[in-house]
Amino acid sequence: MMNPHNPHASLDTCQEVLIHLNDYIDGELSPELCSELEAHLAVCENCRVVFDTLNKTLYLVHQLRNTPPQLPESVEYRLFVIMNLEEYASRKKGS
Ligand SMILES: [Zn+2]
Repeated sequence: MMNPHNPHASLDTCQEVLIHLNDYIDGELSPELCSELEAHLAVCENCRVVFDTLNKTLYLVHQLRNTPPQLPESVEYRLFVIMNLEEYASRKKGS
């Protein structure tokens, strides 16, 4: 559960999917996990919203920096994941 690099990881829960989202966007996720992630996104609207937000955010970051998207700033990307997730979670709670 606390090991996102488990090669036998199965993306059963939204949290596991979200942990892998930035690797997926960076193209660093294994084909197996890509398939699992895409399968989850196909049925989970919550994760699609986060994925969409994260994707747009990263696109904007790259645009603003005017730099190629190859900088190893995965820590920053994880931060975006957490921020988006918390923002989404609190918004859901309030409604
Ligand atoms: Zn989900």
